Amino acid sequence: MKKIIVPVIFLVVFSISISFASSTTFTATFMNVLAGKVIVLDPGHGGEDTGAIGPTGLLEKTINLQVALDLASILKVQGASVYLTRATDVYVSLQARIALANNLHADLFLCMHHNSIEGAPDIDRPQAFYWSTTDTSELAAKIFLEAFENFTGVQGDLIQEEYYVLQYAQVPAVLIEPFFMSNPAREKWLENPVNIWKEALVYDNGILKYFKTISNGS
Ligand SMILES: [Zn+2]
Repeated sequence: MKKIIVPVIFLVVFSISISFASSTTFTATFMNVLAGKVIVLDPGHGGEDTGAIGPTGLLEKTINLQVALDLASILKVQGASVYLTRATDVYVSLQARIALANNLHADLFLCMHHNSIEGAPDIDRPQAFYWSTTDTSELAAKIFLEAFENFTGVQGDLIQEEYYVLQYAQVPAVLIEPFFMSNPAREKWLENPVNIWKEALVYDNGILKYFKTISNGS
């Protein structure tokens, strides 16, 4: 399957990148922005820790992992060094997740979650969390929030929050909750692998924009 999947991934990323970049900057965008970048993807929860549970039983831990695996495939094609805090349905402590990012001196630590709220099935909006104000964490959170706001057309929230994984990360770190899986329509949407792939592409566009922005010194 790998031999079939990789060219498909390449073509999809290639065509998406074209649509997001002008023709003059395309080559630089696609080939150079992520070269040598160490990106740690952290799909939240796993094993006995299911995370949120959707109205008909979709588990947050499962979709967090699916999006992270799709995103890892895209980023590898684009030249990044990608590490996952978990690549299967296993429990990993928060300390171990942070240690991986810190020990690798990651350029970006991306904690990937899906939101849930009891008694408010209509709510579905992106939220982006950061803690440190002494690095580019806030910038990264803003860029991911904008990417998901553009994708959904719904205004979300940028929140400074003392989450453990953000507080103890010694590298730029964000925790993103793009959707509320407690919304029944969104839960159904997330059950389609095509939409998991779309979510990964929105993350990818955010990552490209983030590294382009910091390399321009702005
Ligand atoms: Zn979560």
